[in-house]
Parts: sequence; C-alpha cells; structure tokens
Amino acid sequence: MFNVEDIRKDFPILSRKVNGKPLVYFDNAATSQTPQQVIDVIVDYYSNYNANIHRGVHTLSQEATDLYEQARHKIQAHFNAKFAHEIIFTSGTTHSINLVANGFSSLLKKGDEIIVSALEHHSNIVPWQMLCERTGASLKVIPMNAEGELVISEFDALLSKNTKLVFVNHISNALGTINPIEYIIEKAHQVGAAVLIDGAQSAPHIKPDVQALNVDFYVTSAHKTCGPTGVGMLYGKEEWLNKLPPYQGGGEMIDEVTFQKTTYAALPHKFEAGTPNICGGIAFGAALDYMNSVGFKAIANYEHELLEYATKKLLEIEGLKIYGTSKQKTSVISFNLEGIHPYDVGTILDKLGIAVRTGHHCAQPIMDFYKIPGTVRASFAFYNTKAEIDTLVEGVKKAKMMLS
Ligand code: PLP
Repeated sequence: MFNVEDIRKDFPILSRKVNGKPLVYFDNAATSQTPQQVIDVIVDYYSNYNANIHRGVHTLSQEATDLYEQARHKIQAHFNAKFAHEIIFTSGTTHSINLVANGFSSLLKKGDEIIVSALEHHSNIVPWQMLCERTGASLKVIPMNAEGELVISEFDALLSKNTKLVFVNHISNALGTINPIEYIIEKAHQVGAAVLIDGAQSAPHIKPDVQALNVDFYVTSAHKTCGPTGVGMLYGKEEWLNKLPPYQGGGEMIDEVTFQKTTYAALPHKFEAGTPNICGGIAFGAALDYMNSVGFKAIANYEHELLEYATKKLLEIEGLKIYGTSKQKTSVISFNLEGIHPYDVGTILDKLGIAVRTGHHCAQPIMDFYKIPGTVRASFAFYNTKAEIDTLVEGVKKAKMMLS
C-alpha cells in the first residue's frame, strides 16, 4: 500500500529546515532526493569494499566488480534490455548523448538529416548541432504548439529517405509534456532512421521497456531516480553499439595495445574507458531497487493526483499562467505571475523554505516560443504531499503581494 508518510521517513533530507522553515522540495525534475536505503549502499561501499574493478585479483576488487556488474544487470532488467552488455555506464544523460553523437560522426555525410524536437533540453540539441558541423548533415526541428505539445503532423512531413537519426525526449523537463515516442519510433524506423530517446525525465515516473519500444538508444541519469549524481546509462541495441566507434580511449576499453595498433574490448567495456564511478553505478542499481519497491504504477498515480491538485490550486491565483497544458503530462508545473520575473518569485519562495527552479530550464527554444525569459517550475515527486502544495500556493500568493 502506498503511504506517503511512510515513504517520507526514508528521506532524511525531507526533515531538514531551510531558512527556519520545513523544507518543501519541488525541484525534483532537476535532481531527486536520496532515500536512506541508497545512502546506506554508498556508505557501505566506502566502508567495506572500495577498490578498483575488473583489474584486481584481490578480494576487495572482486567484490566491487561483482556488485558493479550486478548493478548493470539490475539496470538491464529494469529497462528490459535484451543483454546486460547493451547497458553502458556513463556519467549521465549528457555524457550518453555525446557518446552517441560522437559515434555518428563517422556514419553521417553531407545531405543527411537529423531531427530533434522543439521541446528538447540543451543537452539534446547542442551535441547534434556539433555533429552537423562535423559532418555537413542538417538539423530539422519538429515544432511545438501553444499547449506545449509536438505538432506531430509536421514530424511526418520532415521524414524522408535522408533522415538518419531522430532524437526526442520522452518527457519535456521544462513543461512536463509526455511525447508520443511510440509513434515517433515507428515512423522513424519506416524511413530507416535510428532513434534516441532522452529518458532523463521519464525514468523517474514510468518504467520504460526498451524492447517493447523497439528504441535504438535510451539514455538517463541516476540522480533523477533517487540515485547519486555523476552516473547514468546509455542503452543501445547491440547492433548499433557494435557499429559505433569508441568515444574515449584509455584503460578498460582495450583488448590489446601496441604502438602500431590497438584493438578494442567487447561491449560494454569498449565505451567505458578509465575508472568508472563504481560506487555511483552500484548506488544507481540500489536506487532502481528502491523505486521498484515503491512501485511505478503507484508512483505515477500518486504524482498525477498531486499534479491535478496543484494545477487547480495554482490556477485560482489571478494572473498566474501555466505553460504546458497538454493532457499528456507528468508532475511538472511551469508558471509565471503576470508582470513578475520568475527569479523574484523563486527567491521569495526560497525564503519560505520552498525549493523550485527558475529560469529557462536548459530549454531556451521553449522560452523563445512563449516569448518569456523563463518560468518558475515546481516539479513533484512521489514523496511530496498536498500539504506541501498548499504551502507553495500560499508562498506564491505572498510573492505576488510583495512584488506587485
Ligand atoms: N535531458 C533532459 C530532458 C533533462 O531534464 C536533463 C536534466 O535536467 C538532461 C537531459 C541532462 O541530464 P544530466 O545533467 O544529468 O546529464
């Protein structure tokens, strides 16, 4: 049974105070909080089996290697990848996307086209622009509408035999819109294009099945799913990962090295040069265990309840406008108060102990579309409560009163 008060006891940070007020943490789309179960795994790693992996014959090294590889299997099972070697540990979503973009440098040529969407985070725009500069390929953009949804008929029109790659986020970090990725993947495959889905914002809310989606690449960061920062993953279909060249050279990713020629290790090590974030990888596995123990169905249902409650309450405030009004959205509310800069609202909310994000949310094209400098973004997780939303609503009212 989902019981939010029990769940909150797992998160030590939720009982701290900020500026003398109980913390209300609504910046979950930026980074989620860490339960004691995951903190314990991190402490245990450094207390008991901290060692470098894959190299040592000594006990500590073998224990650390086993736990790291077990974590890879947990991640494989969670995302339903066919093989564990299709899971590459990275430092996060940004690293994963750059790894794929770099790999495609040798596969694209002038005249090829790649498609992104208007709803992307900068990390799913800039690496592709850099790829276009290197290869002469061109970038096409699926436009958005005022509700913050993709205009999917325009996507159909952009597809052609020149389309080689399509990159779309599963859920927009700035607006919360859930994109129709099943349709996008199917259509892109019909013209022979590969698809990368940026799952940074979906992995915390739903449990994607990469085989059912038939997606070529899926990327996410552990710190969005109750895990630590500095670690994440790239899922790639085996055939694609075999086609792409290594991203970085160094230890761990080689088979044999001579000054004449180096041969590369098999998957997944070919893409894992150097000492990885060993503790982070193990904790990523523990974080997914934790979220699965709560249950993704229960998480999605409860967060939807929070979204509906907060939307209704915030819209009662005169002059408050919500950006991103799709019916297909997750628990993110991006809003502004008429005539008031989002930064000023965020600063007052912080004084009240309420953590929200303000600014362009690394999605400047979305802000340009709405002709605004940024928004206040409140993003809810399964450990938030309606009482906290009431505190936010009172805080926004207070900010409006002080700043009008
Ligand atoms: N893509 C999306 C949709 C995001 O929300 C984020 C982070 O907020 C990223 C990519 C980048 O993730 P990271 O900074 O963990 O690499």
